[in-house]
Amino acid sequence: MPAVDRNPLPITDLLDWSDRDKSLLLSVLTGLLMLGFLGWLLFTVNYTRFGEQFLSVEGAWLARDIFLFNVIGWLLLSCWGMALHKTKRHSVAYPNVCIHFFGFSFLGIGYVMGLYNPIVGLVLVGSPLTGFILFDFKRVTCSLVIHTVMVLAIYALIVQGKLQYAPMLKADPVTKDLVSVYWVNSMIAFATPFLAMVFGFTYVLLRRWQIREKQIRALAVTDPLTGLDNRRALFDQFSYELARSRRSGNPVSVCVMDLDHFKQINDRYGHAIGDKVLLMVARVLRDCLRETDRIGRIGGEEFMLLMPETDQQGAKVIERCRQRLCGTPVVVEGEAPFHVSASFGVTCSGTGDTLGEEQLFTRADQALYQAKEAGRNRMAFWSLSQEAVPA
Ligand code: GH3
Ligand code: MG
Ligand code: MG
Repeated sequence: MPAVDRNPLPITDLLDWSDRDKSLLLSVLTGLLMLGFLGWLLFTVNYTRFGEQFLSVEGAWLARDIFLFNVIGWLLLSCWGMALHKTKRHSVAYPNVCIHFFGFSFLGIGYVMGLYNPIVGLVLVGSPLTGFILFDFKRVTCSLVIHTVMVLAIYALIVQGKLQYAPMLKADPVTKDLVSVYWVNSMIAFATPFLAMVFGFTYVLLRRWQIREKQIRALAVTDPLTGLDNRRALFDQFSYELARSRRSGNPVSVCVMDLDHFKQINDRYGHAIGDKVLLMVARVLRDCLRETDRIGRIGGEEFMLLMPETDQQGAKVIERCRQRLCGTPVVVEGEAPFHVSASFGVTCSGTGDTLGEEQLFTRADQALYQAKEAGRNRMAFWSLSQEAVPA
């Protein structure tokens, strides 16, 4: 069967989720993050000396209201997403609202905690990155522009004295003379889950990219029906083997094989049975040849066999393949078993030969033509007298 792997990591399927489900995931994760912010604030106000020393009473109320607003907002968005998911409906508005609310909710936090805060920088870099991974470029850019303009507007108002800077704080927790360990640790604690989310999505994206690249590379060199090498892979290998053979002096044999009267099989039993026969042929060839030999499907019912370090004598193994092939019955439900046969054209690179893969292939093809001419179901070698001789 085709050797191309399915995606081995289901987590990377996340990027194929619908916008609705990706928005739902974002809502739940950001909602939990916001709940963490709210919990931190309540704990800090009620149980820490930092709260007494650095938080302003009105500012803490404002922060609480903003955090609570965010938690409720994300909770409602999660419910909306879950309702859509459950009823298997999609909404254009839902992802748009999520994308914009993402920027808006962090803007509020940035404002109360102070825009000149490492968290704001992290969010400004991390959010578009997450957004571009999950959603389309246009919507995320639109939200990014709107919220960056809003950040700049808030800065401008602060500079003009119309808005207070970091209203939650009554004193700066990081100065040249005093650095609040509690504040620094809190910032690290806030940054960690956000960074984990950004890294998580980036990992998923890169992993999928690697998997896709591997799949595409496999598809580029594999015949999709039989899983054998395709023409390109085989010719690359052929070129490599010829270069090796020129250095070592060991010959390389190549064989072109074509099924006999295959059209009649398709016409009589149908294309699906024809495909089944091609799979059977691939299996028989694989069983007959050595591990080091390469087999490929180079056309509809044409196969090519590459045998490194094999001279004309060794290439007689092809005769074994021919016999095995025509001795293997094809069993079709409701029909009497039938047999298929093939004709083979073989040639060998000679010692000191400078022939390239295309020329050797042409010789093998000419030998195949001779085998067909001579009555099919046989093998012919390309001879030095330029004429293929049936073996
Ligand atoms: P000959 O002995 O002269 O080779 O006769 P033939 O009928 O095999 O040769 P011809 O080239 O006339 O027909 C090849 C047929 O192979 C035609 C097409 O229906 C069939 N074929 C090509 N590719 C596929 C495929 O992928 N699947 C199936 N089922 N049939 C295919
Ligand atoms: Mg053909
Ligand atoms: Mg044929």
